[in-house]
Amino acid sequence: MENEGWFDPWCLLQGLRRKVQSMGVLFCQGEVTRFISSSSHMKTTSGKEVTLKRIYEVHVKMDHSMEYQPVECALVINAAGAWSGQVAELAGIGKGPPGTLQGTRLPVEPRKRYVYLWHCPQGPGLEAPLVTDMSGAYFRREGLGNNYLGGLSPIEEEEPNPGNLEVDYDFFQDKVWPPLAQRVPAFETLKVRSAWAGYYDYNTFDQNGVVGPHPLVVNMYFAAGFSGHGLQQAPGVGRAVAEMVLEGHFQTIDLSPFLFSRFYLGEKIQEHIII
Ligand SMILES: Cc1cc2nc3c(=O)[nH]c(=O)nc-3n(C[C@H](O)[C@H](O)[C@H](O)COP(=O)(O)OP(=O)(O)OC[C@H]3O[C@@H](n4cnc5c(N)ncnc54)[C@H](O)[C@@H]3O)c2cc1C
Repeated sequence: MENEGWFDPWCLLQGLRRKVQSMGVLFCQGEVTRFISSSSHMKTTSGKEVTLKRIYEVHVKMDHSMEYQPVECALVINAAGAWSGQVAELAGIGKGPPGTLQGTRLPVEPRKRYVYLWHCPQGPGLEAPLVTDMSGAYFRREGLGNNYLGGLSPIEEEEPNPGNLEVDYDFFQDKVWPPLAQRVPAFETLKVRSAWAGYYDYNTFDQNGVVGPHPLVVNMYFAAGFSGHGLQQAPGVGRAVAEMVLEGHFQTIDLSPFLFSRFYLGEKIQEHIII
């Protein structure tokens, strides 16, 4: 019962949000719909011509309005979670000839995942740590009322349609419950009480985050693609991106293996433990 545990993601987010607000950060809620950028041309040492882009204005569609707000900017941090691939596309990323840096996409897309909450008076109670079974099924205790929550990622061939957030209860019955009951026989008697679905910010290339600047859209920085393990990495990534922006390089933690260029170079930092 050491060096493991869990926290409430919403509380962590609100804690960080309130802290930065107290330090003067202003929040503005809306949807980024367009980037306006300037271009410059450069020749590489091998004589290749490359086009560099710099975003200087972002169009933000305000909630409950058809109008957009033009926002001038010095830099953009693309931290749009499961939608960061789409936001990168708005900046022209991935829209060049295939096999070129310009044509290399940010390979992040939404993948639907379920979390189930069940009740089981015979369960392990306080004895239960956060458990990830070899099958990939995971669970933890939820409060003190004999409740537990957990889930399992589907195999690639059984990916659910990400077009809606409906919960598939048969998935629990057929895929999640059997390994859970094998690991904890008392779970044979569990009763599912509720469930919800959310989107993993899934990086199809190597299931790991993307951190740092884009090589061609020079003032777009990424903090995206954490593939379902982004919460635990968020404080470190925040620090790394801040250092990159302020100092021009990583300082406290070297996250250079997670740069965008790995997609073009084919250098995977494969994440094997995705739950
Ligand atoms: C069911 C489930 C269980 C998970 N469990 C864990 C876990 O146990 N441990 C763990 O570490 N992680 C877990 N995660 C993953 C974790 O939630 C994510 O990796 C993390 O939230 C990513 O944070 P983020 O800030 O990058 O993106 P998000 O939290 O997704 O934030 C992205 C934000 O960008 C906004 N946005 C998108 N497009 C635009 C646009 N065009 N304009 C303006 N804003 C836009 C979105 O509205 C959203 O507010 C889980 C995820 C799910 C779905």
